[in-house]
Order: sequence, then C-alpha cells, then structure tokens
Amino acid sequence: MIEKQHITDRFIKYVTIDTESDPNNPAFPSTEKQWDLANVLVEELKQIGMKEVDLDDNCYIMATLPSNLDYEVPTIGFVAHIDTSPDFTGKNVKPQIVENYQGNNIILNVEENIVLSPDYFDDLLQYKGQTIITTDGTTLLGADDKAGVTEIVTAMEYLILHPEIKHGKIRICFTPDEEVGKGAHLFDVAKFGAEWAYTMDGSQIGELEYENFNAAGAKVTITGKIVHPGYAKGKMINSMLIANEFISALPTNEVPQRTEGYEGFFHLHDINGNVEKTVLEYIIRDHDLDLFEKRKSLIEKIALDFNTKYNQDLIEVTIKDQYFNMKEKITPVMHIVDIAEEVMNDLGITPLIKAIRGGTDGSQLSYKGLPCPNIFAGGHNFHGRYEYVPVESMVKATEVIVGIAEKVSVKFA
Ligand SMILES: [Zn+2]
Repeated sequence: MIEKQHITDRFIKYVTIDTESDPNNPAFPSTEKQWDLANVLVEELKQIGMKEVDLDDNCYIMATLPSNLDYEVPTIGFVAHIDTSPDFTGKNVKPQIVENYQGNNIILNVEENIVLSPDYFDDLLQYKGQTIITTDGTTLLGADDKAGVTEIVTAMEYLILHPEIKHGKIRICFTPDEEVGKGAHLFDVAKFGAEWAYTMDGSQIGELEYENFNAAGAKVTITGKIVHPGYAKGKMINSMLIANEFISALPTNEVPQRTEGYEGFFHLHDINGNVEKTVLEYIIRDHDLDLFEKRKSLIEKIALDFNTKYNQDLIEVTIKDQYFNMKEKITPVMHIVDIAEEVMNDLGITPLIKAIRGGTDGSQLSYKGLPCPNIFAGGHNFHGRYEYVPVESMVKATEVIVGIAEKVSVKFA
C-alpha cells in the first residue's frame, strides 16, 4: 500500500529544512525560514495534483482534494504544523535511519556519546523489527510535526493515484507557529470551509485525543512597605514573606510534579521579588470546567483573605483565560471521534484515547468553529535530541487519513 521508502524520503526532505519558530518575535510568521518549507510544499501539492493550492500572507497553506462522489458528504479537513519547537535547535538536522531495530541502544552520536536507550525510553521496545528515524544527537528531529505534514501529503497523493477509493471533498492546511502557541491565531476557518478536521500532531501510534486542559494564567502582585530594618517594628511589610505565605496557602499536592490523568494543578512558574514588591506568576490547569473555575476563585479568595487579615490592600490578582477544553465542542459531534476510532480498529491499530495534559491548536480551532480532534503522527520524545519516529507509524497514520476519507463517504451516503 503506502511505500515505506517513499514516505521516508518525503519526511527527510521536510526535516532537513529548518523551520524553528521564535516565541520572542511578534511578527507573523515568527521566523522567515518557515517560508522555505511552505514554498516547497506549495510546489509539491501542485505537482501531486491538489487543487486550489494557496499560500496566504501569514504563511498558511491550504489546498483541496475534490470529491470523487456523485452525492454530497461533509467536507472534512486535515491539519499539521510546519514549524519546529524553539526548545531545541532544528538547524542542520541529520536524520539517521535504523532498519530492523532489535531493541538495543541506538548510538546517536559517537563523539559526544549520546545514546538513545530503551532502558530509559522503553517505548522504543514496541517498535522491534521496524525502521526508526532518529537524530544525530545534536538537534531535534522535527517529527513534531513534519511527520504529520508528510502523512497528509502522502495520503492526498495516494487518494489521487487511487481514484477507486471514494471520498468527499478534503481540505488540508499547514500552519506556521504552532510551537509558539499561535498556529490557530490567523487560521481562516471560514475560508477552510470544512465541517470538521483532524490535527495530525499526536505522538505514538494509536493516540486519539479530544480533551485538553482548560488553562489560565494568574499574576499575583504583593506590595510591601520598606522601612529601615533597625526601626521597622510594626511598620515594615516584607512582600517576599507574604508571598511565601501565599504560596503555602495553595494546596501543596496540586502541582504538576504530583498530578497526572485528569488531576488539575496550580503551577508557580516565576517569582520575582524584593521587600517592596513581589510578583508570582502561576498557570492554572484543569480538564473539568467547574473545577477550573473553582481554582481561579480559590486564588482570588486567598488574596482577599490576606487583605482582610492584614487590613491592607496587599495583594492584587489578575487572571487571564488562555484556552479551553475542546471536549465542550467535540462532545456534541462525537461521531467525528468515533469515525477515527473505527478506522483505527479496521486497520488493527489499538486506539489510545486519553486527555491531553496541555493545549493543542485543535482546541483553539474547535472554539473558532472547526471541531478538531488530534490523531497520532507517530513520533516520540518531541522537542529534543532524543526525538524519533518509526516509519511504520507514519505509514499507519497515512492509512488512517485515507481510511477516514473513505469512511465519511460511506457513512454519509
Ligand atoms: Zn506539534
């Protein structure tokens, strides 16, 4: 069916083009080099026979695979991002291919003694006998999300070459700047014109996700009073000590390092202070909307209690919502998840349905009116030198895309 060599060649072509995004540049896209891959993709999409291939001023690529049916079915979409994470360099990626992997240590880099070992990364062991693409230990790989891009292009090409596979109209989109949280910002949902879509941006084979955190940021500003320490009795208010008290007033076990699954948390990620002024920066996360609201209220209540206790306006809290759990938008159209799940079962892939402990472009897209669950792209250990992807997982993800296209044509006949 889908040829391993073909998908490998395409993937390697994409990962050797540096597309690292930049969280500190407000420009859009955040780095000029993302155009390099965008331009390659535009040419390739035209060349394989996609229609309405369009690269807009913000570096979003959209294209159409027209329906080959004589009846109407919903238009669906597939989305991936072209940028790679600024957490680790994506320049001069030199992929290494390990064929027929036997469960051993993979030496990524002899000189620097960098080893990808199943002793530490035990997920490797599920890929015995497969072809694994790794880095050379000095860069990330960029399977996040060039595996997704590869799979979408390859699936479209496959459908074009196999007109006997029936499908409705398919729209695809490649976005810039996902890794800096802006991939969905300038996504033109109306222009995309799909009833729903899937991001091909999950990790290991089988992943299917339609729940993510509700997220907010809280800034807690504590204002103290500085007085000469020798004459401070009854007068000095040390904002750092109040901050310490404030930190202790939050539930000590509800922190990232002590939570998993559906457990939410408060995460203190920045603290900056002197006697006069201390600022605490928190992120607040919870899958459950009700508990999420309660978390926000708790921070506000603690601040209020402190102000009452000290009879002063010591603490000011500002809370900003960041994103919401897409579940709210997916549950009413649950068949879009069911279709993906059925296709995986048809292909002998065990669906791994779990809640994302983070956000996704799909959640923002879902709130913009494009319900958008997330499907595995196949890679592991994203955003670092140990990133790898089994070619067989990319083949399977490509088959999932083809299968979804076909299943929609049958379900809505
Ligand atoms: Zn990604």
